[in-house]
Amino acid sequence: MLHDAHNHLQDETVAPHLDRIAAVWSELAGAGGEMVVNGTHPDDWPRVAALAGAHGFVRPAYGLHPWDVGAPRPADWLAQLAARLDADPRASVGEIGLDRWILDSAAPDDPRLGGVRRASIDEQTEAFVAQLALAAARNRPVTIHCLHAFDVLLPLLRELPVPARGFLLHAYGGSAQQVPELVGLGAYFSFNPAFLDRRKGARQDAFRVIPEERLLCETDAPAMPPPPVWRTHKLPPGADGVAPNHPGNIEAAYAGLAALRGVAEAELAARIADNFTRFFGPAR
Ligand SMILES: [Zn+2]
Repeated sequence: MLHDAHNHLQDETVAPHLDRIAAVWSELAGAGGEMVVNGTHPDDWPRVAALAGAHGFVRPAYGLHPWDVGAPRPADWLAQLAARLDADPRASVGEIGLDRWILDSAAPDDPRLGGVRRASIDEQTEAFVAQLALAAARNRPVTIHCLHAFDVLLPLLRELPVPARGFLLHAYGGSAQQVPELVGLGAYFSFNPAFLDRRKGARQDAFRVIPEERLLCETDAPAMPPPPVWRTHKLPPGADGVAPNHPGNIEAAYAGLAALRGVAEAELAARIADNFTRFFGPAR
């Protein structure tokens, strides 16, 4: 049984392939296998809700992603988010977070950023804190994206209420040294197979020291494809020439993480199934 703790199946780039992906996923993940589909802006929340309605393996998450904080959004977006959570007890908050990479490192024309205005860290923080508060008040799972911004995120997690069940740091890119404090604050950490790239040694080191009861696996599909040798599932390139990542590559996350930690894959899968249910709540 496989669990993808973080992807974006609502993304328009995978829309032409949805039926095929659903068939592949059902076979691969097995009965009880699930994925958490994360919205990024109020515009894509209806697509997330539709996927959760259509497929029993989809758990919906709704959030305003740091890359989308600079995009226009409805004035009542936060009330819309609260209403989505209150309408569905399985819904979680995500993807939310903080990202300084878009400000200090991303190329001005990076196509992944879609030409959206890049919001300052202060603006991102305001949106993050408001969404974290909704999750904490309802004790819902919350999925956090943090890139080049742990110096901002850590003080917030120390000071602000977080959900009693904890929070997920997706594609955890922080250091091994700060893992113990994050565990104490309630963190779960999801492993993305893009980290199997030999140049990502520091990220692999962090995943060797994370306690096994806080581990999850993810694909972030259609983003973050694994290195070619780990890619078991492929999708044809879109109009931009880029091939979207396939959620079936969750296989690489399990195989890669099991190898990294020196444990049997079946043992890891059983542990992650427990962790997934403890954090995201029981299946329907
Ligand atoms: Zn994501």
